[in-house]
Amino acid sequence: MRLAGLQKLTLLDFPGQIACTVFTPGCNLRCPFCHNPDLVLPALLSEEDLLPEEIFFDFLQKRKGKLTGVAVTGGEPTLQPDLPQFLSRIREMGFGVKLDTNGFRPQILKEIVNAGLVDYVAMDVKNCPGKYALTTGRPEKRSGELWDTVLESIFFLMEGHVAYEFRTTVVGGLHTTEDIRQLAQLLRGADQWYLQQYHPADDVVGDFLPNAGLGGAMGGHLPASEPGPEPGRTSGLYEPSFQMMNEMRSAASAYVPSVRTRGI
Ligand code: SF4
Repeated sequence: MRLAGLQKLTLLDFPGQIACTVFTPGCNLRCPFCHNPDLVLPALLSEEDLLPEEIFFDFLQKRKGKLTGVAVTGGEPTLQPDLPQFLSRIREMGFGVKLDTNGFRPQILKEIVNAGLVDYVAMDVKNCPGKYALTTGRPEKRSGELWDTVLESIFFLMEGHVAYEFRTTVVGGLHTTEDIRQLAQLLRGADQWYLQQYHPADDVVGDFLPNAGLGGAMGGHLPASEPGPEPGRTSGLYEPSFQMMNEMRSAASAYVPSVRTRGI
């Protein structure tokens, strides 16, 4: 298992658990707002910086009785071929497991959940179907094709095999209230859905893409209808206002009563 880092304690990442968070390298998406370019972009990943698996398990052994869970995040953890064995080993040590995923490998997600290897799944739902290619930095793909893949994971989780949450990082320049309303109609009946406020960072994935940022993802042209406050280094992305977040939550709650905001 390739591991890129370890946060030794978190009270936030895994609901109800005192956990550590382990990061896996590599991702199949290029969300321009992503805060982890060093995990996502192969050119920024150094093999020397990887954490040997046995060091992680030694750490876990020493934390028995102190930590109760492990949150596995990325990058995109389902890209790791030996993820099931890794999760199984964590479970055998008596820890709960939370998996973060972008939902783009539904078969792996199903295998892991059906094998009882996770207690909680947090899945990103990036945007309404028509904006999937833009929001995931995959302009070469059709949004409908991307959405169909994600929808398989959404439907699976909504069948209730495991505790889960959906989460959407709301980015000024990428999301409108109408997008969130449309998405809410599709997530009707979801257990939990979090709208997370985007906060600009020094380095985001979009800064490293050709024709950096949202402008690049859109072929260099931002729509004239997206004014936004002063954009950061990544052209066109900005922090949505408190008012915008609340307006979106209110629009979404007509369809998903459990929707909540995070980070505002
Ligand atoms: S935010 Fe997007 S690019 Fe970043 S790790 Fe998640 S899915 Fe990958």
